[in-house]
Amino acid sequence: MQTKFKTNTPEATIEIAAQLGKNLQAGDVILLDGDLGAGKTTFTKGLAQGLGIKRYIKSPTFTLIREYQEGRLPLYHMDVYRLEETGASDLGLEEYFDGDGVSVIEWSQFIADELPADYLVIHFNKVDQVDNDRNLVLEPRGQRYLALVQTSFGD
Ligand code: ADP
Ligand code: MG
Repeated sequence: MQTKFKTNTPEATIEIAAQLGKNLQAGDVILLDGDLGAGKTTFTKGLAQGLGIKRYIKSPTFTLIREYQEGRLPLYHMDVYRLEETGASDLGLEEYFDGDGVSVIEWSQFIADELPADYLVIHFNKVDQVDNDRNLVLEPRGQRYLALVQTSFGD
């Protein structure tokens, strides 16, 4: 199953993410894959909004992970771009994945070996380099994420 969206403003991307964010549960893992500037951090702002987090969502590019505790569930926002060379084997990321919050991971392909079996992966594509069109493709792996997508976007 695949669910596709096309957006042409950051606000439209945030709105889709907020819809998903409202239905997130403890232990959910969301992977955001796509090039620099494709909209992964923008999408995370919407997820945070859906979780009731009011704090500004800042890219964790240099910190690897930022935690937000004041929403309906904790949000663990990771950007693992800098782990391309080293991997993440000794970082204990599974404690986040199995934890009481929601893990959102940008550039998850760089820690492919550390990921859980089930997750929702969202692919972001710029339609072309100059305009604001973005294609989003949601691919759930496992029953939990099928249900999440259905609850959030099913009719
Ligand atoms: P990433 O985290 O994938 O590198 P960001 O979310 O940080 O990307 O940046 C996306 C940039 O593209 C932002 O400056 C955002 O305002 C802009 N943008 C333009 N159109 C869109 C859109 N439709 N969806 C998301 N972001 C968009
Ligand atoms: Mg980013």
